Amino acid sequence: MNVLVINCGSSSLKYQLIESDKETVLAKGLCERIGIDGSCITHQPAGKDKIKTELPMKDHKDAVKIVIDKLTDKEVGVIDSLDEIDAVGHRVVHGGEKFASSVVIDDKVLEAIKECNDLAPLHNPANIIGINACKQVMPGVPMVAVFDTAFHQTMPKKAYLYGLPYEYYDKYKVRRYGFHGTSHDYVSERAAQILGKDRKDLKIIVCHLGNGASISAVKNGESVDTSMGLTPLEGLIMGTRSGDIDPAIVSFIAAKENLTAEEVINICNKKSGIYGLSGGISSDFRDLGAAADEGNQKAIDTLEAYAYKVAKYVGSYVVAMGGVDVIAFTAGVGENNCQMREMIVKYLSFLGTSIDSEKNKLRGEEVILSAKDDKIVTMVVPTNEELAIARQTVDLVK
Ligand code: AMP
Repeated sequence: MNVLVINCGSSSLKYQLIESDKETVLAKGLCERIGIDGSCITHQPAGKDKIKTELPMKDHKDAVKIVIDKLTDKEVGVIDSLDEIDAVGHRVVHGGEKFASSVVIDDKVLEAIKECNDLAPLHNPANIIGINACKQVMPGVPMVAVFDTAFHQTMPKKAYLYGLPYEYYDKYKVRRYGFHGTSHDYVSERAAQILGKDRKDLKIIVCHLGNGASISAVKNGESVDTSMGLTPLEGLIMGTRSGDIDPAIVSFIAAKENLTAEEVINICNKKSGIYGLSGGISSDFRDLGAAADEGNQKAIDTLEAYAYKVAKYVGSYVVAMGGVDVIAFTAGVGENNCQMREMIVKYLSFLGTSIDSEKNKLRGEEVILSAKDDKIVTMVVPTNEELAIARQTVDLVK
């Protein structure tokens, strides 16, 4: 089967066409600046160079049409016609408490996704626009919604309730949901596979450290805790997000800087994290690493604060699960940043794990970093959210 995987943002659309039997990517790309001047598509057929083309896209429907044109193009295309797309898998950010797994999209499902808009006002409406655009351009092609939150719906109440008046949970469903679920699910399953074990027999901590970052505790195959909350702002220090802060800081800064609460939250989302903490050096760990190597103290402090926070979360999840068998690093930083992995694992050595400095030099590869007789396996498992979405789509439509 050929599955088109779609990840829609408010002005962007990422896609991959995946052949599900051999699990190969036939082509991938990105539409940017949808609805804005200068919209363009970057398309890459497998094994060939990227091709960037400026084309007007007044809305997401135009973008989907252009994606189909590229996929079926005589020169840069990989299929002959639209008929060769058997299903579409959509990444949907928030499924609230309504979705604990992926679903085939029908009118009722679309309505239920809309009802979650309140919980993710920046993301869910864009996901719905993408679903509707595909419905219009590819009528009759089955579509599946894969939710970022669904994998964490197994969290027990004690992990997802905030210490707030209960009525806010009752009335507005204010609770912790967690995100990156597709990645935590994929990586924990793959980690078990690599070790030749069943995930149901393991306690796994997945450190998804990308521009957005979250950690999860996966016990016997189920997420029992994760660091992101009602929104992706909670938890670790991230590229530009603050992660956990004392909530009183919001009104404190609002008063000092003459800002609204919303404006402060915007700063917490977009101007904080390693970017803000380093005094604006960069939200990219490569730049921060380079600055730290040159002796920049703010960069050094930021990297130390980041590693410390990750290690603290790992420690708390060891408690949550009553032990740990596997610690898996994934996403941009987790897969590539050897220095950061080493800084984090240093904190964890007392638990019974270590890091082989030669193996730790590898980037973006599946590798076991700990020694054979360590009590805990520490490893790198590159994530593949698109493949996970394609697999779940196939499972539901075949
Ligand atoms: P992601 O959101 O998973 O794409 O991760 C993006 C982040 O990964 C970037 O902001 C970088 O900080 C980090 N990253 C990617 N490649 C490297 C690398 N080779 N070395 C260090 N950090 C990297």
